Amino acid sequence: MSDCLFCKIVASEIPATIVHETATTLAFRDINPHAPVHVLVIPKEHYEDAAALAEAGLAGDVLIAAAAVAAQEGIVESGYRVIFNTGPDAGRTVFHAHAHVLGGTGLSLRLG
Ligand code: 5GP
Ligand code: ZN
Repeated sequence: MSDCLFCKIVASEIPATIVHETATTLAFRDINPHAPVHVLVIPKEHYEDAAALAEAGLAGDVLIAAAAVAAQEGIVESGYRVIFNTGPDAGRTVFHAHAHVLGGTGLSLRLG
């Protein structure tokens, strides 16, 4: 999608600090981190939300990439959280499916 922020990151039209990449996924640091480790894992193709991602058979790819990011960031033993925000009550702002990987500190229940 031409007007999608995360599609632009995939296309290298907007810079991002990329920490992990597979054939189908890209992971980069959140620009406004809520924890010492806050990485976004996205499918390279545009899907609106987690349900569309699952229907396309790519949810597993994103979750495997999230686990790889956690291992790379050294937060598997200390623990981490993977979140898909959906809808306004969750504070969702970007409509390209993405998983937040959060860790590196004790996490409160709320993301924001
Ligand atoms: P949402 O609230 O939609 O689940 O999360 C969107 C996330 O994208 C937010 O945590 C926000 O900080 C992050 N974000 C928004 N714009 C950019 C950007 O241009 N670059 C990066 N790396 N993260 C962004
Ligand atoms: Zn997109």
